[in-house]
Parts: sequence; structure tokens; C-alpha cells
Amino acid sequence: MKVSNMLLSTLREVPAEAETTSHQLMLRAGLIRKLAAGVYSFLPLGLRVLNKVENIIREEMDAEGAQEVLMSALLPAEAYQASGRWEVFGSDMFRLKDRNNRDFCLGPTHEEIFTDTVKACVKSYRQLPLTLYQIQTKYRDERRPRFGVMRSREFIMKDAYSFDMTKEGLDLSYDKMYRAYCKAFDRMNLDYIVVDADSGAMGGSGSQEFMVKSDTGEDTIAYCPACSYAANVEKAECIPETMEKEEPKPMAKIHTPHAGTIEELVDFLHTDSKHFAKTILYQAGEKVVAVMVRGDREINEVKLINHLGINEQDLELASADTVVRITNAAVGFAGPIGLDIPVICDKEIMEMTNFVVGANETDYHFENVNISDFKADAVIDVRTITEGDVCPKCGKPISTTQGVEVGHIFKLGTKYTDAMDCTYLDENGKPQSMIMGCYGIGVSRTIAAVIEQFSDENGIVWPMSVAPYQVLVVPVSMREPEQVELAEKIYEDLRKKGVDVLLDDRAERVGVKFKDADLIGIPVRITVGKKAVENVVEYKLRANDEVLELSADEAMEKAISYISETINGNKKA
Ligand code: ATP
Ligand code: MG
Repeated sequence: MKVSNMLLSTLREVPAEAETTSHQLMLRAGLIRKLAAGVYSFLPLGLRVLNKVENIIREEMDAEGAQEVLMSALLPAEAYQASGRWEVFGSDMFRLKDRNNRDFCLGPTHEEIFTDTVKACVKSYRQLPLTLYQIQTKYRDERRPRFGVMRSREFIMKDAYSFDMTKEGLDLSYDKMYRAYCKAFDRMNLDYIVVDADSGAMGGSGSQEFMVKSDTGEDTIAYCPACSYAANVEKAECIPETMEKEEPKPMAKIHTPHAGTIEELVDFLHTDSKHFAKTILYQAGEKVVAVMVRGDREINEVKLINHLGINEQDLELASADTVVRITNAAVGFAGPIGLDIPVICDKEIMEMTNFVVGANETDYHFENVNISDFKADAVIDVRTITEGDVCPKCGKPISTTQGVEVGHIFKLGTKYTDAMDCTYLDENGKPQSMIMGCYGIGVSRTIAAVIEQFSDENGIVWPMSVAPYQVLVVPVSMREPEQVELAEKIYEDLRKKGVDVLLDDRAERVGVKFKDADLIGIPVRITVGKKAVENVVEYKLRANDEVLELSADEAMEKAISYISETINGNKKA
């Protein structure tokens, strides 16, 4: 491709709306263009990257025996009604009606549709196991679309679904997908970790997420530098901190004017937040429940949802009105004593003695409270692990880091096949439920994750495997016929050898071309300048500053061998 023929629209300024490196660079390099909040078009350079990412994933899926299909994005409501997710998705689902008033949605994920298809097409045990996948556009009306294609409302997902007869079969299908994901992300040079993820709410038996380490990641990962443990903080088990047990003192009500937050209480009472237990009220569907954790801890809503067995959409903090009605006090003074709703207590509270809780009376707390002073309806692990906690596996200190979830693999079991009656006839002619797994990769999000890991102050530094072009040929001056001629020759020769090559034949100053070259991040740059008359060019990699003077042929050979060394991600591009 010649840049003079191409739709290349680079920006020098950092767009104000873009907070993260990848979002800024995707807009500045002209990979994408925003249409509406969380809705983007892919421009030529962006589409080339997208196609390369898709193809890597496709090759690795095919290599593990998965078969590609393509389902519609416009989906009738019935399948989702059968599984119950027509309600569960709530306002995350884009819904519409056709001219006959029939309900449709734009597919947020396709478990139901694949289950329905397999139910119709597979009758016998002889047709199983089976893994199907697609690379297709998904729609979710995210509450907070942000960071460009990282969290958008229309995005491209690779979603795969496995159908097995036994649990062991599911384990094998799952392992295949695990392998395919590792290979695909390795080929993209990504630095990722595989973490244990929550599978409770979806009723599965095992689940892992592929997390790309990045400060801008929305997920927090707990990992243990001492052993191999890694889990999403939503899932990571918390070990209660042991605290020195004091002799119980008599409980007393204390006046704590305007001290409705932990910080205000710490100031007022001059003690540590570890000596408080906070009581937070939640609206869980129709019910209101109170949750207690130590003052310096955070409630883990995923653990709470799993304990309550409700949908994510059905849990929210109780409104101020509800808190006032139930506690007879202003917000900030709730406590477990005399409270008439279920109290769910974090395990760590059991370690505490003579602590402070709200008195369910404005401006009052109780001090010297002990667990015998109130009734806990459940004692569970309901807090979120943090730096300073210990590893649940080996007991050494845990660390946390931010990550971007690029993939998710999930042992689903029979949740959908039971709900939708997707059975096969076994060897004895008896109908049996198929056992499912589901496996997603955020294809468009992966592009952003790659950029988060591969950029510098001048722009993107693409790994070879996903670079929109592998080599960029830059004639310094389009007014010098020798330069133009040699640049075109290199371009044509490389093209004939199957290299993805771009020729910047614009009549621009070379400074402008170099700036764009750095911004769009093509791994190899061949510059054709004054020494074109001697058949000598400059060879430079985007990833470092070294400039080599080589003959045109040497430069081409060097580029070709560099491409073959780096195309599968074995070496940093
Ligand atoms: P998240 O927790 O980030 O919202 P999810 O758990 O909803 O992700 P899945 O339903 O498992 O995601 O979807 C599979 C993959 O699709 C995710 O691992 C992620 O990479 C990608 N993905 C999910 N939501 C979005 C989105 N709004 N924009 C871009 N990619 C997304
Ligand atoms: Mg989501």
C-alpha cells in the first residue's frame, strides 16, 4: 500500500476524551474513529490489526479442533427467555422490536444461540464432543463505556462453546481452549497471567481469566510472588488476620457527634480502624441485609451475591431512605445490635474483641462490643483481599496488580442445556444433558491491551505478529528521482516476497513522515535518502534507536529474516 492512496488520519494532539495510552494512540494513529459513546469504526490501519489478531486466534482455535461458524447478531428473544437471561441482562441488553412487535435483542453473548443450534443439529453421542466458535460483533449497553475499544458497547468477541458427554470430556475441551489462548496471546507477545475467576453466579464449576498486566486495567489481580497462586480479587479467598484477644469489657453507648464515617470515627476516638466493624446495608432484590466487615476492609459484592444466590443486577447499596427506615438513624450509624434484618458477618469479625459498632441511633456508637452481643445470621468470607493479606495457598504475603481481562474460559456444566433441553441420545438410546463450556476473547479489547504493553512516548511499537504493516519504506524526498525509484523498487521487491509493506510516498517533509512512522509503529523502517545513488539505505527498527546503513538488498534481507524471527512472538519486536 502507498500512503498517498491510503486513508491515514493521524493526530498530533492528544484527544481530550482519551484517558489511557491505548485509547489516545488508537485515535492519534487513526486506527479507530468514535461514532458515539462506546461505538467505534475501524479505519484501514486499525482493521488490518484487527484482522491479524482475529487470524491468530482463528488459527489457534482451528489447531485445537474447534469449528468456526457465524451466528447473527440480531437475535429473537425466545432463547434468552428460555434461559432466564432476558431478565438477568437488564439494561445491559440492547432490545428492539420488529414491525410485528416481536422482541429481539442485539446479542451480548451467545450461549443460548449455540445451545439452540446444537440442540437442533446434534442427536447422538456419535456427534459429540463438539467445540464451535465464532468471531463476531457483540452488543452490551455498558453502564460506563470507556477507554475506547477497551470497554465499548459494540465490540468484537471470539466466543466458543464446547459440548461434551462427561465431566472428563469437558475438562479436556477446556484444556484445549486454555492451550489455544496461551498460544494466541504468546504470539501477540502479551505479558499476561491466568487467574482463577469467580464462577459462582453463573453456576459453573471452574473458570479462569487471561489478564494482561497494565496499570490502566479495570480488574485487580491478587497473586503470590512465592507460589503460583493468582486470582481475580473478586474470587481470592481471604484468610482472617488473627488479632490479640482482650478480656471482654462492658459494652457502652458513646456519643460520637457527626462521626458517621470510619475516618471521622478514627479521628474522634483516636484509635485504629481495625477496632471498628462497619455495617453496610444492601438491597438484595426485595430483601435488605446488613453486611459487617472490619473497619479497614472492603466488602466483596461478588462473594455477597454468590452467598445470597441472586443476580448481579439485584444487588445494590440500600438507599438512604431505607437505611433511615431500618436503623432509625442517619446513614453512618448502622450496627448489628437490635437490627431486625439478616446480618452477614465477615469471618474476620470473629477475631475481634471490644470493638466499636454503630448504635442504630444518630450520633451514637457502641464500644466494647463482642460477638456474643449480637446474632450473626451467617459468618462467611465476604471481604476483598488486599496487599498485606496472606496468600490463601502458601501463607506468604500477597501482592496485587491491575489487569485487563482479554479472555475468559468457563466450565458451565448443564445450566443452559438443562434450561433449553439440549440433550443427546447415549449408547443406550437414553437422552442425556450435554455438558458445556464457554470461552471468550475480547478481540477488539486485545488490540488496546497490546498497545498498553507496546508503546513509547512517540507512539505504538507493534509486535510483528499484529502490526498493520511489517515494513515501512520512506523516501526522504519525493523530488529526488533516485530516491523515489529505489524506494519503489524496495517496495515492489518486498511485496513480491509476501511482506506487508507500506510506502510513504507523500510529498511531505521527512520529519512529518518520521513522526507518523513512530506513531503508527511499523516494526521495520527503511529510509531511502541521499545515498540512494550508491544503492545505500538506512535500516531501523521501531523498537530501538540504532540506525544501520546497508545496501538495499541487505536491508531487504535483514527485514525478511527479522520478520520470520519475530512473526510468532518469540522475540520482542
Ligand atoms: P468485563 O468484566 O470486563 O465486563 P465480562 O466478564 O463481562 O468482562 P465476558 O462476558 O466473559 O466478559 O466476555 C468475554 C470477553 O469479552 C472478556 O474477557 C473481554 O475481553 C471481552 N469484553 C467483555 N465486555 C467487553 C466490552 N464492553 N468491550 C470490549 N470487550 C469486552
Ligand atoms: Mg462485562
